[in-house]
Amino acid sequence: MKLLEKSQLIKNQEIKARDNLETFCQTIKKVNPEINAFLEINKEQALKRARVIDSKIERGEKVGRLAGLVIGIKSNINVEDFHITAASRTLENYRGSYDSTVVRKIKEEDGIIIGVTNMDEFAAGSSTETSCFGPTQNPSAPGLIPGGSSGGSAAAVAAGMCDLTLGSDTGGSIRNPASHCGVMGFKPTYGAVSRQGLLDLAMSLDQIGPFAPDVSGLALLLDVIGGLDPKECTTLDWQAPPYAPAVQDPLDQLKAVRVGVVKEFFDVSDESIVKIIEGRLQELEESGAELVELNFDYLDLCLPTYYLINYVEFFSATRKYDGRKYGHRIEEVCGEEVLRRIHMGSYISQKEYSGKYYKKALQARSLIRKEINNLLSGVDVLIGPTVPKLPHKLGTDLDTMEMYAYDVLTVVANLAGIPAASTPAGSVKGVPVGMQVQAKPQDDLKILQVMSFAENNL
Ligand code: GLN
Repeated sequence: MKLLEKSQLIKNQEIKARDNLETFCQTIKKVNPEINAFLEINKEQALKRARVIDSKIERGEKVGRLAGLVIGIKSNINVEDFHITAASRTLENYRGSYDSTVVRKIKEEDGIIIGVTNMDEFAAGSSTETSCFGPTQNPSAPGLIPGGSSGGSAAAVAAGMCDLTLGSDTGGSIRNPASHCGVMGFKPTYGAVSRQGLLDLAMSLDQIGPFAPDVSGLALLLDVIGGLDPKECTTLDWQAPPYAPAVQDPLDQLKAVRVGVVKEFFDVSDESIVKIIEGRLQELEESGAELVELNFDYLDLCLPTYYLINYVEFFSATRKYDGRKYGHRIEEVCGEEVLRRIHMGSYISQKEYSGKYYKKALQARSLIRKEINNLLSGVDVLIGPTVPKLPHKLGTDLDTMEMYAYDVLTVVANLAGIPAASTPAGSVKGVPVGMQVQAKPQDDLKILQVMSFAENNL
């Protein structure tokens, strides 16, 4: 059953909100000790909300668009009364004292927040192995990493522990774990969703977005969390078209949809992954899409550009964790990767070096953005692999560059500010492989339409 149908059944009293919640709580109890997707849950509070929603429905009162759906939130997004630690010792004693804008909107639409999910420390990673609360398991590929940094949010949906989750994506942290766990994940256009209440990794790249088991779930949650936020100056003054109705009325053919296929995205990917994505592209072509071969000459520039910007912005964002307000001084308790970024960011930010590294990175970013927009000007979407390689075994000793290599295909969208999503495309010996769909800024709907066509027809 699609999530949109389920939300209708809840509104028609065919499914009670509290039964929906109870089922998930049982699953969480059973599988979370092993999977470690949720760091904290609050069943009592959730049950209270579920009861209120059920009685509103019984009395025939109007309820919100997410009525009775059970939702998990990445633990770097503020939710009142939960420990919002970003999986770091630095914040182990910090409790959310307010709801971020996205969480407030979810509550206003009667979504039920069940808990907060595991992640790489401060969202700096691609495997969820750097959490101070231990790694998350991949429910779809036992023994392997779930991807990251929003590994807990992806795993929670993959293991059926809730209906929907939120993650954050700075360089792929929604799309990467969605790909490895075999679920859907969506990074909206930069500025389409408020970041107010998100603990920054790199604020010129960060976006909050949803994970869901199907496209209707993505659409439902995106409709709620998007829009201008007076509290957050980078949000766009843009009313996105309602996504849920568009997904309910899917394209029945792909005629007139031009799909850009960038050769370099395939050149850097494992053969087994290329084969799967090529298979899906062929099916899209048979369904009427026009495939357009493209070249992107700056792919080699993307990772260095991304990490330079990330180090500098992250360093600046961490200066508030000096031990005075939140308990610990970050440098004293954080893990190796976070420390590396702080040291590198501090070094690059020194006056004499800024021209050498940071300014160059900003110039490269403009070039990348221009070229990606140029490629997109002739097509509706770009389709390729989400992640170029398969997930490794949990606990494998990877060097820094090997870990960063997971991100080469996802950082492009953050650097360019464009929307991008990952949808399951197949599997290699049981390990899920995701397909990435990217579009022009504010063309998020086009991505959902193509994903929805693929969901219904491939
Ligand atoms: N893996 C990338 C990094 O370590 C992306 C992280 C993210 O999107 N939050 O920075």
